Amino acid sequence: MKIVVIGSGFGGLSAAIRLQAQGHDVTILEKRDKPGGRAYVYEQDGFTFDGRPTIITAPWLIHDLFALCGKETADYVTLMPINLFYNIRFEDGSIFHYDGDRENILAQIRVFSPGDVDGYLRFAHDTELIYEKGFELIDQPSQHFLPCLRSPLTWCAYEPIPRSRTW
Ligand SMILES: Cc1cc2nc3c(=O)[nH]c(=O)nc-3n(C[C@H](O)[C@H](O)[C@H](O)COP(=O)(O)OP(=O)(O)OC[C@H]3O[C@@H](n4cnc5c(N)ncnc54)[C@H](O)[C@@H]3O)c2cc1C
Repeated sequence: MKIVVIGSGFGGLSAAIRLQAQGHDVTILEKRDKPGGRAYVYEQDGFTFDGRPTIITAPWLIHDLFALCGKETADYVTLMPINLFYNIRFEDGSIFHYDGDRENILAQIRVFSPGDVDGYLRFAHDTELIYEKGFELIDQPSQHFLPCLRSPLTWCAYEPIPRSRTW
């Protein structure tokens, strides 16, 4: 089948790769001069700026795309785990170092705002549940209105997620 994908952001590119791997004849149309969408790369005065995203949170989705085409990610790009995700700098010069180490994050919250430790733990727990639910649905087509609606309702019904904070 001849298929036209409009837009070459991560969404368009990954849809096009999947369709082409299924044997379709795919054309991508992009209105900008380069692919990438929100991950566009800007160049100015000899400098290169990533438009974002800054970190890749689900590398296995990238490996899936390469695998669909019979390729290995590592033959094309090197993905490296990074220790520090980002720094949050405050006006008084203090810096919060945000990384993937829960103990390190908790230790810093204890210094910055001890009263927020429990709130952070609740927040981390809630987002973990949302993440798990979201990833269950990530490869499910949502072509009809009711099933789309059911997913957020399921989340609301999820006892440990307080509704006022989820929506
Ligand atoms: C500041 C910021 C930080 C982020 N950080 C992260 C991160 O750390 N980790 C992470 O995983 N994600 C991150 N994201 C999210 C991620 O970048 C986006 O979810 C993803 O890039 C969106 O891809 P998309 O293909 O859906 O849309 P887009 O990237 O918006 O792509 C849409 C494309 O369609 C093109 N287009 C639109 N209309 C037309 C038309 N009529 N004809 C032709 N072309 C058209 C546009 O030019 C664009 O190239 C971040 C996003 C932002 C904005």
